[in-house]
Amino acid sequence: MTIFKKKKIDKKQLKAFQGLLEKEKKELEDKIADLNLKEKDMAIKMPDFTASEDSSIEADEIEELNNLLSLKLVWEGDLARINDALERIKAGTYGICEECGELIEEARLRIEPAAQTCTKCVKKKNTASA
Ligand SMILES: [Zn+2]
Repeated sequence: MTIFKKKKIDKKQLKAFQGLLEKEKKELEDKIADLNLKEKDMAIKMPDFTASEDSSIEADEIEELNNLLSLKLVWEGDLARINDALERIKAGTYGICEECGELIEEARLRIEPAAQTCTKCVKKKNTASA
């Protein structure tokens, strides 16, 4: 009979990934704060820009604001995933695939410390949605 050891990521590695995540989190928070300032600036410059027919508002300014907003959405999503990963470090479940319960490959975590699934499951998902 095989006894399955509870899978867990190495403590030293965990510390390293925690450091990475915290650094990324800080950077994202700074970037989002920056974006918020810009957004405020632009909103002052063109109030109700979507409803306005004012031709003095440049189309590329509207586009810039739209880009800004979609970028913010992406970053906020990243930040949420990082916070989630930090929670999992606290809970002791970090590095475990949410789909199959196996350990996520270390190489994958190095590239994407907030990863929630292992490479196999990502591939499965990608082929399923393609
Ligand atoms: Zn998996």
